[in-house]
Amino acid sequence: MRKEDKKEVKNYKAIFFDFGGTLMDAESDNIAHFHMMKAVIKKYNLPASPEDLVIRYNSFLFTKDMTLLEVNPQEKSFTPLLKSTKRAFEGILSKYDITPSIEDFYWFKELYFENHKKYIKLFPETFEIIEQIRNNDSIHLGIISDIDNDYMDFQFNVFGIKEMFDSITTSEEVQIYKPEAKIFQVALNKAKCQGEESIMVGDSYKKDIIGGKNMGMTTIWINTFSGDNTDKNKADFIVTHLKETFPILNNLIK
Ligand SMILES: [Mg+2]
Repeated sequence: MRKEDKKEVKNYKAIFFDFGGTLMDAESDNIAHFHMMKAVIKKYNLPASPEDLVIRYNSFLFTKDMTLLEVNPQEKSFTPLLKSTKRAFEGILSKYDITPSIEDFYWFKELYFENHKKYIKLFPETFEIIEQIRNNDSIHLGIISDIDNDYMDFQFNVFGIKEMFDSITTSEEVQIYKPEAKIFQVALNKAKCQGEESIMVGDSYKKDIIGGKNMGMTTIWINTFSGDNTDKNKADFIVTHLKETFPILNNLIK
């Protein structure tokens, strides 16, 4: 859906994608968590269902639209994923008066990577969209993600997509989360362009769309979670699935 007809024709130089929930299927993340929780229940013999434990685990990690919680929202400073998953692990066990040992934390870290490697999936359209954009030599293709460098490295290597991007800008690198201007500015510097010359695609209205729009970027919101399009006027385009961004992007960069 195009909200307004802009008369000006822009010469776009860069397209940036969010990763989690945008190129990567957030539901597959939940499946990885489900299998992790099954193992936690077995190890500690917990009287809980994996479904309930996933809800509890996610509540320590994510906001309701599945974007990472800031540990300290006032400062919005970066917290390593290892630290947040450790906190979530402690959180789920605290209900059963269990305090995990250092060995338990190592076990959980292994469990985390093992299950994310096994279950995390990209959306089926992701490769096609990336390749289509890469066909256009004049467009810089980047990632802007609230992610850790080691997790990004791990996950992008699992998918074999790391080399496909001209730049990857992470919250760990910048030590701040979206929608703070700094992370977008660092990404724009890498692309050597202005906000007005770029497009931001993401599933979080608060992080990707507000953050992108504040920098003057053209924004495409993949509204997967809320189903509510009201008062979301910073999105230039609103779609419900990644595949719908394809014709919009093609049209913008042709
Ligand atoms: Mg996201």
